[in-house]
Amino acid sequence: MERRRKTDQMPGEGDPQDVETYRRAWHSYVMRRNLVVVLFVSFVFLGLLIGKLKLGEPTDFAILFVWVGVYLAGGWWLTEWKCPRCGKVFGHRLWTQRCISCDLSKDEVAAVVREK
Ligand SMILES: [Zn+2]
Repeated sequence: MERRRKTDQMPGEGDPQDVETYRRAWHSYVMRRNLVVVLFVSFVFLGLLIGKLKLGEPTDFAILFVWVGVYLAGGWWLTEWKCPRCGKVFGHRLWTQRCISCDLSKDEVAAVVREK
């Protein structure tokens, strides 16, 4: 029987090592996504804090500038997440649901991880 190409397989099909790869990839994704969400939410608190502290405009802008840099770095890190099936970058947009290379969806990855 001819072995199908790896990208044609359903996620989780094949050896247990693949499941492990999916599990690690998913945890890595969740960590990155949570970081971006936390950074985004923290912006609101940062805004309130800056409003209260009244440090003066140059300091306010410096803090905001640094925070935006951190947020962009976090967002970039999230888009650098590699697809566990094809090993390429999953998507260039933050909340893309399917791999741009092999069409694997995040729900499918999550389903494989939940089964274990
Ligand atoms: Zn892929």
